[in-house]
Amino acid sequence: MQRYENYSDELTDHEQELGFKRVLTVNPRFGFAGRANMVPAVVLRIGPSHRIIKLVNPDGNIEYSHQAFGSYFPPGNIDYNDDEWNPVLTPMPSAESAIRMALAGPMPNNPFRQHVYTATAMMKLMCPGCSEWFDLEAESLSIGETQVCPKCEYSGVAESFVG
Ligand SMILES: [Zn+2]
Repeated sequence: MQRYENYSDELTDHEQELGFKRVLTVNPRFGFAGRANMVPAVVLRIGPSHRIIKLVNPDGNIEYSHQAFGSYFPPGNIDYNDDEWNPVLTPMPSAESAIRMALAGPMPNNPFRQHVYTATAMMKLMCPGCSEWFDLEAESLSIGETQVCPKCEYSGVAESFVG
């Protein structure tokens, strides 16, 4: 399956013990030529529209990034842009540190924390049955999980809804 350059889709035993899962998530570059809607990633959900995602740097180093789905600006603000997964904290090389910092919440003395106005996470899926696109409220999809097309009722595993 096509991978997003910046995401690692290799789940280690250690990450699994910490609660990370290998899932399908929105491809940040979906919409660019040849880019799929969903890509595999290693993610720990830490609350509604909040997650820690495993990143791989161009030099091959692993980092963990606390992200939230939404915008840095509230709806109606002149700088508001479409809701997407945005970094909350600077990525960290330690998964434990990333989890600890994410769960600590906003701290007045932490200049590295960015507030995200969260929204319900959405994904676009492409039905392999009728070839129609539809929106799904989801932060991620489990690989192998059954999805149903709301238009033609085709049923199949999540990864078959990649378009
Ligand atoms: Zn369909």
